[in-house]
Amino acid sequence: MSVPKQRIDSLLIEPGCATNQAKSDKARKAGCKKPLTPGAAAGGCAFDGAKIALQPIVDVAHLVHGPIACEGNSWDSRHVYSSGAQTYRTGFTTDMGEFDVVYGGEKRLYRAIKEIAETVRPPAIFVYQTCLPAMIGDDIDAVCQAASARFGLPVIPVNAPGFAGSKNLGNKLGGEALLDHVVGTLEPEFTTDCDINLIGEYNVVGEFWQVQPLFEALGIRVLASFCGDARYRDIAVSHRAKAAIMLCSQALINIARKMDERYGIPFFEGSFYGIADMSDCLRRISALLVAQGAPADLPARAEALIAREEARAWARLEPYKARLQGKRVLLFTGGVKSWSVVSALQEVGLEIVGTSMRKSTAHDREKVVEIMGTDAHMFDELPPREMYRMLKESKADVMLSGGRSQFVALKAKTPWVEINQERHHAYAGYDGIVNLVAEIDKALHNPIWAQVKTLAPWDLQEVADEGESAFADQELRHG
Ligand code: SF4
Repeated sequence: MSVPKQRIDSLLIEPGCATNQAKSDKARKAGCKKPLTPGAAAGGCAFDGAKIALQPIVDVAHLVHGPIACEGNSWDSRHVYSSGAQTYRTGFTTDMGEFDVVYGGEKRLYRAIKEIAETVRPPAIFVYQTCLPAMIGDDIDAVCQAASARFGLPVIPVNAPGFAGSKNLGNKLGGEALLDHVVGTLEPEFTTDCDINLIGEYNVVGEFWQVQPLFEALGIRVLASFCGDARYRDIAVSHRAKAAIMLCSQALINIARKMDERYGIPFFEGSFYGIADMSDCLRRISALLVAQGAPADLPARAEALIAREEARAWARLEPYKARLQGKRVLLFTGGVKSWSVVSALQEVGLEIVGTSMRKSTAHDREKVVEIMGTDAHMFDELPPREMYRMLKESKADVMLSGGRSQFVALKAKTPWVEINQERHHAYAGYDGIVNLVAEIDKALHNPIWAQVKTLAPWDLQEVADEGESAFADQELRHG
């Protein structure tokens, strides 16, 4: 069974999404489904999005029902770390072939689940639908139900075949699978008045571990992180949290909103990037928890922690200020990072020459204007040729972007720092901003740029030869 049309339609008009709320009734009804560009697989399909959202649940087996190429599309490319279980790093797939297309792939799926249940014995198995079995009509819901009863463990269907839509829609479909089959199915051993959920935190290069100690220092327990370094049980008991922080509105807003509706868990949108935003998050979650019954001294303790951590971060940033003063940065990211990173970089004296607003909400745009004083430096989707022109014309000293844009920077002989999901350094929290500034400093002052910008010996010779013959011509002309 493929993903029901009503479900896709309801996600495309998600009421919690600020972009949707800013639209007219007619435009909202039409949804936000953009046709995918044929061949543009690098942007990811709905299956890719669902896998990205759920794979950071590290102790479950993620089984991709489809041809091997689908699994290869997204496996282990995002550096999401685990503090223990490594089951999530194994690429389980049913590896469907032509025979299955003719006779159906349900039996093959059942056998794969059986093998995983008997050999790996994970606490749960997540089964991902892909285009091929969805098109031939494999009913993964029925197979998962039968296998769950037979092998005595939760087998969760994730109905997000690639053709359903974009990666972003797939993120939300992954969230729906959790809401339908996992959240609220177990009870925690105990609860506290300071239990929270983080929604949209994937523990990329261990970023969750940079903020978790801050919450712990305040006595705040992260009951579940959706889904960074999460265990199946964390998600199953997450309905008992008292409040939540949503970290990327575009991805899992449906989880935040529905958990608020179903279980009365209030949430706000925050960011862990930059000193001011990290402090803001700690303040807001403390206030929200007090309103939910937490001890009244929590905000005061949060202020003391903020003062201590900010002072420590500024002391560590001090040596970079003189080296980075006035350096120009072009930021090509999107979403919440388009403004939260801007404020962080301005704090150390870098000048932002532009920031992209891809995947950003109306609120994100307002924040950029608030921080930069104007919208003159915002731009949307840019083709590589335009990006190259912008780099040259703005005389940017460094570009911050995802891996796909790195070659534009390198072609423009401009230092480049990876800031999106394939990054190798953790940028969250107070320690994270110090890491980011250190990476920018390293990129800017790497001696390779002086060499790259110098003409090669053979080109130098050519220029010298041209200069000599021009001089000779001149001599001849003027006698
Ligand atoms: S799910 Fe469909 S679109 Fe996505 S990788 Fe597989 S075949 Fe391609």
